[in-house]
Amino acid sequence: MNLQLLILIEHLLHYGEINNFFPIRDKIYVRNKYYRLLNISEILIPTIDNQNTESLIDILDNIIVLVDDNTKYTLGKTLDQQRCCLIDIMLPFPSQIEDRFYLLLAQSGIKVALDWYYQFSIATDYIKTKSIAKNKHWHSSSKYGDLEITINLSKPEKDPKEIALLKSLANSEYEYPSCLLCLENEGYTGSLTKAARHTHRMLSLNLNNENWMFQFSPYAYYSEHSIIINYKHQDMHIDMDTLYAFFDFVDLVPHYFIGSNSDIPIVGGSILNHDHFQAGSYIFPIEKAKVKNSINKDNVVVEYLYWPISTLRLNGTKNNILKLAEKLINKWYSFSYPELDIISATNNIRHNGITPVLRKISQDNYQLYLMLRNNRTNHIYPDGIFHPHQELHHIKKENIGLIEAMGLAILPGRLEYELRLMNDFLSLNNLNQALERLEQDHTMHKHREWLKYLYLSYKNFDNDNYNLLYDEVSNKFCQVLEHSGVFKHDKSGDEALENFLNS
Ligand SMILES: [Zn+2]
Repeated sequence: MNLQLLILIEHLLHYGEINNFFPIRDKIYVRNKYYRLLNISEILIPTIDNQNTESLIDILDNIIVLVDDNTKYTLGKTLDQQRCCLIDIMLPFPSQIEDRFYLLLAQSGIKVALDWYYQFSIATDYIKTKSIAKNKHWHSSSKYGDLEITINLSKPEKDPKEIALLKSLANSEYEYPSCLLCLENEGYTGSLTKAARHTHRMLSLNLNNENWMFQFSPYAYYSEHSIIINYKHQDMHIDMDTLYAFFDFVDLVPHYFIGSNSDIPIVGGSILNHDHFQAGSYIFPIEKAKVKNSINKDNVVVEYLYWPISTLRLNGTKNNILKLAEKLINKWYSFSYPELDIISATNNIRHNGITPVLRKISQDNYQLYLMLRNNRTNHIYPDGIFHPHQELHHIKKENIGLIEAMGLAILPGRLEYELRLMNDFLSLNNLNQALERLEQDHTMHKHREWLKYLYLSYKNFDNDNYNLLYDEVSNKFCQVLEHSGVFKHDKSGDEALENFLNS
């Protein structure tokens, strides 16, 4: 009999009890499930000090260390699978979570119901709060107002052993679930390429007479970052159906914004083959942008924002906004202005796209943001004309999706290490020595020009140059957004926009 293991199971049960994963009536039953799963036969139930509340992950990891290899293997191949498997034993079924949510919604309103579901998703470790806390985050000013930067350090790094296993498994895996958003992920064991989803519980929603599923993002980029996923694995499409679904959503959840990536590559998100939206309780920099000019059209106040991504903000009632938005989206999908390289389609493939965002302001008063995008490439800009150009790729080369277009940069985790070295290079106060050091590390070669620029622009570095580096990274992000804008804020850009609005 392993007393330590029995004590840990009691701690786990206590955690489940205080988080209401199961009613007290079921405690004996759940305990026996753990004994069965962990192959425990000789039992003397220990009493534990309930004041001593270890974190869930610590309890799980201590259990995993104590069980023999065979038992461990039945829990899962990866640590993530093993943890999820142990948590799932004490969780309710998805339908029970949904019932609880809809009961709370009926009794106490959407905020209480969503807050409960959010806390549940944290308590089950579905939302990885511990990992998210590792992200670096800062604000800095720009001519468009404050911008926000996040260096994303929360996505887990793969164990070298897992990567090796993965290599040997290449192409042998059956494609189930079809993608990482699919419904089939609910309770899915995971694999070496797909996350363990034992503890995944989604909520059904009806939007625009279609079935959608709601969940929080495990690696949230902002407060209550949520994903709304079409019940069917079908391609992204931004059209009037999207907007009808948006309005249904903000009428149900008025304290959240909702938005979507565009439906075309380069200027969209990373998943185009499964229709989904993003939402949450967060105010983005774009919402504080200055209004450059404003016109009244069909009972809608149309504001053109002073924002690097060309954005129209429509203010008005639901019906009026919908009518005007339909005209604007259709118009944009076929609008060309070759002088500025804006060509709406080539060979029947559409290049113009929309990144839409909706917020409810008050009863029948909404704001719809239409960000005008174009994903064409040419020989000068093979990655995209309205995409961060080559000289910015040392900071960011990924797609500029919804969240970034709204002014919150999600920068790759590699930058944490690279900025640390940049700081060291600056601390040398000697450009030649700094360049020598840079040449020794091939991951740093891409920052060569930037290092020279920093030495030219600043004098007398000290040991901590992070504020300077953070500001300079923000400047780069500002340029990233400017490259992504179709109408630049200059004379020809303003004329082209005028042309679009009058056409
Ligand atoms: Zn899918």
